[in-house]
Amino acid sequence: MSLDQPKVLIVEDEPAQVEILRYNLKSQNYEVVVATDGETGVEKARDELPDVILMDWMLPRLSGIEACRQIRRIAATRQIPIIMLTARSEERDRVRGLDIGADDYISKPYSIKELLARVRAALRRPAALVTGEVLEFGKIKIDLSKHIITIADKPIHLGPTEYRLLITLMKSPERVFSRDQLLDMVWGLSSDVDTRTVDVHIGRLRRLLTENRAKNMIRTVRGYGYSVQGS
Ligand code: CA
Repeated sequence: MSLDQPKVLIVEDEPAQVEILRYNLKSQNYEVVVATDGETGVEKARDELPDVILMDWMLPRLSGIEACRQIRRIAATRQIPIIMLTARSEERDRVRGLDIGADDYISKPYSIKELLARVRAALRRPAALVTGEVLEFGKIKIDLSKHIITIADKPIHLGPTEYRLLITLMKSPERVFSRDQLLDMVWGLSSDVDTRTVDVHIGRLRRLLTENRAKNMIRTVRGYGYSVQGS
């Protein structure tokens, strides 16, 4: 075990899933810690201070959502990136997951290659400042529990889709999301919404931000997608 070996906490109750994750993460030189219920997950997050947490949604004793919420309330653990592992049927709940502070999602059954890529991305990402349930980046501050958005301390109003888009982007500043990823995270995979819809809502969000003195916060990556950047 070396100091620069990133530590991953797996919170998952299915032994087969744990073994697949453990094996693959170890083969990539990660240090692995496991908890098999939500309560132990919160304890291990606090005691082990992992660099990233993989959190199953449905867990005994304490759900993944509640565990995530508690981890965000503890000062020592609130900045740790959390990737939720969700089953297809739970996708509608993703928005709730974003509200309580998860950073990313991956649907089961996932490819290990994709999962490892998300873990690497989570480790690379500059963290947005999450204080309790407040998400802050640049001039924008979002109170996730009260759904209040302020830009340079002035409250603004966003429609529900623009709100979810902004949260998704702000959770991972400078990460470029493809249109498909945004569709997946904001609308849910099962929706039959076209990727052009993403452009429409990004356009609206960008106008609102510009009108409220947060110009150029959303960057377009031509032919691919979007990210938020510092202004
Ligand atoms: Ca489970």
